[in-house]
Amino acid sequence: MTTPAKSQQQGSWKEYVEDFRRAGHEAVDWIAEYLGRLSDHPVSAKVRPGELFDSLPRSGPQHGESFDTILRDFDKIVMPAVTQWNHPRFFAYFACTGSTPAILGEMLAAALNTNGLHWKTSPAIAELEQVTLDWLRQWMGLAEGWFGIVYDTASTSSMHAIACAREMVAPEARVNGSTPNLTLYTSEQSHSSIEKGAIAAGIGQSNVRKVPVDAEFRMRPDALAAMVQQDVAAGKRPFCVVATVGTTSSTSIDPVPQIADIAEKHGMWLHVDAAYAGVAAILPECRSILKGAERGHSLVVNAHKWLLTPIDLSAFYTRRPDILRRAFSLVPEYLHVQEDPRAHNLMDYGVPLGHRFRALKFWYVLRYFGLERIQAMLRSHIQWAKEFAALVDAHPDFERVAPVPFSVVCFRYKGSDDGNKRILEEINATGRMFLSHTILNGRVVIRMAIGNLATTWEDVHEAWTALQAAAKGKRQ
Ligand code: PLP
Repeated sequence: MTTPAKSQQQGSWKEYVEDFRRAGHEAVDWIAEYLGRLSDHPVSAKVRPGELFDSLPRSGPQHGESFDTILRDFDKIVMPAVTQWNHPRFFAYFACTGSTPAILGEMLAAALNTNGLHWKTSPAIAELEQVTLDWLRQWMGLAEGWFGIVYDTASTSSMHAIACAREMVAPEARVNGSTPNLTLYTSEQSHSSIEKGAIAAGIGQSNVRKVPVDAEFRMRPDALAAMVQQDVAAGKRPFCVVATVGTTSSTSIDPVPQIADIAEKHGMWLHVDAAYAGVAAILPECRSILKGAERGHSLVVNAHKWLLTPIDLSAFYTRRPDILRRAFSLVPEYLHVQEDPRAHNLMDYGVPLGHRFRALKFWYVLRYFGLERIQAMLRSHIQWAKEFAALVDAHPDFERVAPVPFSVVCFRYKGSDDGNKRILEEINATGRMFLSHTILNGRVVIRMAIGNLATTWEDVHEAWTALQAAAKGKRQ
């Protein structure tokens, strides 16, 4: 039998590798140049919808192109359509950092292309994930006994929490698909991902109860207790409550210990969404934010928000991995392996089969920065938010609308909603900064979210100067 020859067109692997070596150095130089001069870029993309699409060919290339040509087009065509989330004056949503060690970790993970479906398909993924999530658990001051797994986003993490809650009280739902009368509770300020999780888990939007909040946007435990009581009397089955530590709009902190009391009384699963703020517990002075979470069943903290890791990496912890596994384990014959208590088969703990080596970039981050430098960053951001809040408080044209427990300040120009929107549009149109808005107490509110490692106090102050100038323009 003759071995079929490799076709000419396929190219030689050796040549690809040498081509990569040269282009790889150039790409790293490009990245270093970009990161070093990020401040010179406009923060938000200034393109019309469809502009990038229209400037690229309608069909893919017949013949392969050189790395040089691709990089040139990336620079010329793609970059103008990129909103710069890594920019030091990106103050919108939750500011974040794709840090240098994580970039290298991502590159190595892509090179390995290893897939942690189960332990054997990549022991490194399963075990590095266990190690890094356990380091983070310890830094956040959580007790032992939490099982951690990495998912892509907090939305996915919370969806799994809700599915676990369903599995705990109604295991028959896994088989017959019906979840009659199950009701889930979360505050009116919780993230939309909770409602989406309930949709995905078959609970149904109409069975999600939005619990009212107090004047500081925290879930009211008295209202929660009353709603649960009412539902029980009406024959419903309260099964899950989701508390938020660091809500999306105002970063308020739900009273988790009181919520835990109610959850325990009614046998509900308690999930804590600490996607943004959980990492603040790394600071001993903020540790109390996770008080009560240890009585919960699950917790989500995103490394891709305030922990120096590029999207995506969401750390999901649960004290009931047995239930997570019961909810999701389904092993086809071709994937059967010998059980071993130390070998976690990640495919058993969630919807995805394939499991990316996200832990590698996280390991790079934790090792490269270390606890001290991470704490220093969190402290600066919190301090600058307080100083920014003080400037707002002292200004006659602005008012603050929420407490500032972390690194986000919610405030408004003392004028109409349209006036606030126009101020935002004006300062964002300069390209020098990017802030976003929310609605609190029915009014448009501007959010100043600090969270990028490259940000300086001068950057924060530049935004404040621009805001004052825009507000002055509105008065005249
Ligand atoms: N939970 C909270 C409190 C959030 O603020 C967000 C997003 O900002 C999410 C969940 C969703 O995060 P992800 O994009 O990782 O799904």
